[in-house]
Amino acid sequence: MITGTISRISGPVITSRGMKGSKMYDVVKVGEEALRGEIIRLDGEEAVIQVYEDTTGLTIGETVENTEKPLSVELGPGLLSSIYDGVQRPLPVLLQKSGDFIARGISAPGLDREKKWDFVPAVRTGDTVAEGDIIGTVREFHFEHRILVPHKISGKVTDIRAGTFTVEEIVCTLDTTTRLSMMQLWPVRIPRPHQKKLDPVLPLITGQRVFDCIFPVTKGGTAMIPGGFGTGKTVSEQTLAKWSDTQIVVYIGCGERGNEMTDVLAEFPELVDPRTGLPLIERTILIANTSNMPVAAREASIYTGITIAEYFRDMGYDVALMADSTSRWGEALREVSGRLEEMPGEEGYPAYLATRLSAFYERAGRVVCTGSGERNGSITVVGAVSPPGGDFSEPITQNTLRVVGTFWALDTNLAYRRHFPSVNWIKSYSLYLDSIGDWYINNVARDWREMRENAMYLLQKEVELQEIVQLVGPDALPDSEKAILEVTRMIREDFLQQSAYSDTDSFCPIEKQYLMLKVIMVYYAKVSEVMTRGVSLRQIQALPLRATIGRMKDVADLDAIRNMLTEIDEKLMSLEVEK
Ligand code: ADP
Ligand code: MG
Repeated sequence: MITGTISRISGPVITSRGMKGSKMYDVVKVGEEALRGEIIRLDGEEAVIQVYEDTTGLTIGETVENTEKPLSVELGPGLLSSIYDGVQRPLPVLLQKSGDFIARGISAPGLDREKKWDFVPAVRTGDTVAEGDIIGTVREFHFEHRILVPHKISGKVTDIRAGTFTVEEIVCTLDTTTRLSMMQLWPVRIPRPHQKKLDPVLPLITGQRVFDCIFPVTKGGTAMIPGGFGTGKTVSEQTLAKWSDTQIVVYIGCGERGNEMTDVLAEFPELVDPRTGLPLIERTILIANTSNMPVAAREASIYTGITIAEYFRDMGYDVALMADSTSRWGEALREVSGRLEEMPGEEGYPAYLATRLSAFYERAGRVVCTGSGERNGSITVVGAVSPPGGDFSEPITQNTLRVVGTFWALDTNLAYRRHFPSVNWIKSYSLYLDSIGDWYINNVARDWREMRENAMYLLQKEVELQEIVQLVGPDALPDSEKAILEVTRMIREDFLQQSAYSDTDSFCPIEKQYLMLKVIMVYYAKVSEVMTRGVSLRQIQALPLRATIGRMKDVADLDAIRNMLTEIDEKLMSLEVEK
């Protein structure tokens, strides 16, 4: 066993002598309390270690023991509805063991060792199996947890058992004498393999109009939510965690205030999935590494989260991963790098910041899973970014922007005006509009894209018109342009705005999203038409249509919204030109 002694302590970073034979990223136990840490630099027999627990009270000369294993997560039944810290220790167990404040050096396995699961074999004696093949299934809540042959293992099944087992008991034996239980380990810093990446042709449906209809992200795509303090990053991430149409959600609370996580913990068990009617917590894994927890563990929380996401992807499921906030992870990298006295890059962040960020987002994707029987799975990653002062020119925003497909720019002014979600429609974008076009044509409507472009055109036009209005007042505009301002107000207030707290509108089905936009765009088309005939804007505004359109959000019956199309048509067409 490699055992060293602490020679230097600098916040979360310690140096240990006598570590000859160690490898990068080996997990070590530091000091008498056996605090967990990871080797991040090797220099002869000296190892530099980032410690995932509070290092206060640690003294020079205490021993460091190398486990000679990389930081790994336990994968298997029992993950769903779990709440973990950054290194996959179940928080409820930690709290039980140590009271309100998590004591140091406590170890608790990621998966419950006592709990028994009903294992249903999917293979028979004599079958040949290889990496990624499904050997059986376990029902976890309503979810079919598929047990996969681990990496680099193959052989002929010599024994397979049905019945109830703990995650450690052997359920399958191969002729290569490999004995498989339902649990496997995976080193978090290494991406789990897949056969190949697929094109991003399926949208992630989130029930949020500004996301689904205007700036969509795909299943397997990546999105970032940058925004200053209070612009709605956390609410957006939580809304996505609630309503995204995936089978699994991994939610990482990284370095943000603890009470936000408490909100999630209090709220989730109560929530029901609008599509399945099942409790949302049953499809969710929460990873909490809040601001009061050790800085170095933020990085671990990000990797732990994405590895768990990959595990469910490999079963052939769609997974959504939310990370709030990746800036806190970046700041942790900066702090550790500073302690290592590395050459600082931009704004003190390490030079490898960009590589770390892109390698993380690179683990997203829709893939053909390893194993036989064509299975596709996906991981969609949505990272919140908290630029200081809301200034998007800082390194984390800029480096993330280069690698993600969808950019949801949250806007301080919109948030101040209580326009939520405060997604700025001029600055935001999605690179997936073309690739998901067919899906919308086949599943929503032919003219979705055209309507979207028209709406975006009007919103851009609105910016120009508002400048004119500011200079010379609204009366200077001709009726046709005043009509545009009326319609863009509808787009903003009656379509884009969507309260996360509304009982009727927090989730909006995609068909309804389409119809709502359609109503507004048809209104505009008809208004333009009758105005060219000579009808005045005053006459149009005297009709009660504005109020009708304003009610759409709360109308659940789609036929009632379709009827509005007729109502708009009839009311406008019946207007006579005033003499
Ligand atoms: P951030 O994480 O960016 O600091 P939060 O997500 O905590 O900001 O949002 C701040 C506040 O903005 C929330 O408490 C809420 O009042 C409001 N808010 C944000 N998004 C929405 C939304 N979609 N619907 C309604 N209110 C929202
Ligand atoms: Mg927040």
